Amino acid sequence: MANQHIHVGIIGAGIGGLAAAISFRRAGVDVTILEAADELLEIGAGIQMTPNVSVLLQKWGVADVIGDNLVQIEELNMRRKDGTLVGHTEIPIIERALGRPWWLVHRAHLHQGLAAVATQLGAAIHINSRVVSLEYQEGSEVTLETQKGDTYHFDLCVGADGVNSIVRSTLFPDIKPDAKTTNCAYRAIIPYDLIRQDPIAKELIQKLTMEVWMGHNAYIITYPISGGETFNLVLSHHRPEKVYSTQTNVSIKEMRDVYKEFDPRIKRIVDMITETSRWPLLVTGPLQSWSSPQKNVVLMGDAAHSMVNHMAQGAATSMEDGAFLAKCVGAVTHGKLSLREAINLYELERMPKAFMKQQVSFLNGAIWHLPDGPKQQARDAAMAPSLEGKYLVRSSNLYDDPQTVLDIYGYDVEAHAEQALARFVHGREAVYPGTGIAPYIEDKYMGWFSKCRPNDRYSGAGKL
Ligand SMILES: Cc1cc2nc3c(=O)[nH]c(=O)nc-3n(C[C@H](O)[C@H](O)[C@H](O)COP(=O)(O)OP(=O)(O)OC[C@H]3O[C@@H](n4cnc5c(N)ncnc54)[C@H](O)[C@@H]3O)c2cc1C
Repeated sequence: MANQHIHVGIIGAGIGGLAAAISFRRAGVDVTILEAADELLEIGAGIQMTPNVSVLLQKWGVADVIGDNLVQIEELNMRRKDGTLVGHTEIPIIERALGRPWWLVHRAHLHQGLAAVATQLGAAIHINSRVVSLEYQEGSEVTLETQKGDTYHFDLCVGADGVNSIVRSTLFPDIKPDAKTTNCAYRAIIPYDLIRQDPIAKELIQKLTMEVWMGHNAYIITYPISGGETFNLVLSHHRPEKVYSTQTNVSIKEMRDVYKEFDPRIKRIVDMITETSRWPLLVTGPLQSWSSPQKNVVLMGDAAHSMVNHMAQGAATSMEDGAFLAKCVGAVTHGKLSLREAINLYELERMPKAFMKQQVSFLNGAIWHLPDGPKQQARDAAMAPSLEGKYLVRSSNLYDDPQTVLDIYGYDVEAHAEQALARFVHGREAVYPGTGIAPYIEDKYMGWFSKCRPNDRYSGAGKL
């Protein structure tokens, strides 16, 4: 098969679209991003970059751009809403076990880092370019039109345009993202300085930690961002009705009421919130396909598989999609397979992964939202050994359950793509001739300790 020049058009410069652009440029593929907003920015709250994607930020040089604004925590504490400690994880143990950091970051810092690297690598980013229509026929380029009347032609159009994707609604008009339950979330950030002045709440910030406060149908998760200067809260709760869009300027009294029975220390911090929004938790799919029949338009990220937030995997999965897709399309430019085959491979390998993340995300929500009773007691008992520093074969705390840690946080999307491509192109698994070991298996079992980079800590720990 001959080498093929491919120009990719990505719709949406969110975390997923920018990650995809970086990956495409690293694979030597021309890429243009069309972004609706007239400024490149992300809303002001925190995000976890779990080890499955922190490794991408390292490889791509994005971590170096973000620098000290990436925070590492010392521990994760799992609590009941009254403050009772039921689980404890030394996060550096997980980091060492995977050879990758677990970062907490302000979305704006992450977004700026991704945009800077995408631009450095030669991705063209057009802001104020809302795509309003796309045409895609067999054998011809995809034509996109923007609201201001510009027309673009691409060999491949990637829909990274989020949960309300126009690319998805053009391909699959009947698919509507759904709030499966009445669950939704507030987000807020508070300066550490303010918490330090509070005689009761300050006890919670002696170290940089992640804290989960579990209660029936409402939990709070907190962690530091912005070099350890800001305290981020995600406050999960249920409403009488399903929530389908972001509600701004919600009643602060209503929010305080949801958490009024929580431990006084975290309640004091909730009471410091002066304004917040309520975010829907919309789920898309699972879809039958992520692409056009011609395989020249393809979906990724929230556009394809938005999920509830309880495992902090939405943006991470979007980044993984971009990295996988770019490897496949990069192989097309080197004449290894056709674009149709590349898109088929991407769907075959990534759709089950995204489904699994959606499932685990639902389940973690169910675990954290349990009502008091026998199941909650069994949950707490199943994570209790961690309070004594014991790590077992399974844990009800999915953030340190060994299987979840390896499947989700230990996942290497680039190795997965390379292995899938090798299997497709050569018709068999790729193994090192000298040892017979497959590269991704070697990496999984040996790479974690032989490549460990324990000094990669851009921690703001000193700032407390
Ligand atoms: C409360 C909460 C907490 C979360 N916490 C985490 C976490 O800790 N870790 C994690 O990994 N994920 C988390 N997520 C999920 C994460 O925010 C999303 O999954 C992620 O932002 C999706 O990225 P995306 O790039 O696919 O889409 P988006 O971020 O939605 O980006 C889409 C982009 O496309 C643009 N766009 C839309 N339409 C058009 C158009 N027609 N033309 C051009 N451009 C267009 C938009 O302006 C936007 O820039 C959380 C979500 C919630 C609600």
